[in-house]
Amino acid sequence: MRTVVITGGAVAAVAFLASRFELTHLHLLLVIPVGATLMGVVIGGAVAASIRLTRSYDTAGFRTLGTVAGLAAYWAAVVLDFTGLAITLGPFTLPATSVLNFPAFLTRMARNQGAPVTAFLAPWIAIPGRFDAWIGLLVIAFEMIGLSIASGWAISYLGNVPYCRRDRRFFGLREILETYDEDVLQQWMLAVREHRPMEARNDFGRLRSGRLPGFLRGPRLRVAVHQCPLCKDSRVRIDRRSRRFGVQRAEMVAELWLDGPRAAMLG
Ligand SMILES: [Zn+2]
Repeated sequence: MRTVVITGGAVAAVAFLASRFELTHLHLLLVIPVGATLMGVVIGGAVAASIRLTRSYDTAGFRTLGTVAGLAAYWAAVVLDFTGLAITLGPFTLPATSVLNFPAFLTRMARNQGAPVTAFLAPWIAIPGRFDAWIGLLVIAFEMIGLSIASGWAISYLGNVPYCRRDRRFFGLREILETYDEDVLQQWMLAVREHRPMEARNDFGRLRSGRLPGFLRGPRLRVAVHQCPLCKDSRVRIDRRSRRFGVQRAEMVAELWLDGPRAAMLG
């Protein structure tokens, strides 16, 4: 619920501000979508804030949400541009909606985006006029890609998701398990520290088979494993979760980094 409110609010604010300051089509060197990237960063920041507030670990799901919300903000800004356009005919000022239709607006937008690129290339290559709309569509595609990449990065950095520099991938959520059994957990951490993979795997298997079902309430330990999909480097976070005066509290107990071969400690 909080996620919907925060993300929805961010989408509305970004769409409004972007159309106010004409951010959607602000470019550097003709095609680098600076404005759209900025929009993505703001949306990503909002999504990261809701990850932290809801204490969710499902970062992949939230990244999808960030992409969808970012594109929603982008197109909302385009629609706002469309309805904000006024046309003056002699003494009358007509709102654009009554004169132009939306497809015509989109076509003109695509042409406008293509125009600077064709003008820049003009001394070298002459591009036939009917292609400028296609170039415009390409520029718009760059804007949307830039926006979703920016929101993904913002979510991962602000939402504390590790990044694998070797494989150029963000870690994904591998599993979450909850347990009352602090002894087994301590035993597993000790086995990991002392490089005893057999015991570690065994203990983690015990944790996994004795996991608590989600509907149980009360204090417990939560183990969240994030992992690089290619090299299997993992980060394990252990939180102690309790409910005090009706408020869910989580405090971090430990954070373990397991590089490729040591990921076998997870069974
Ligand atoms: Zn990796």
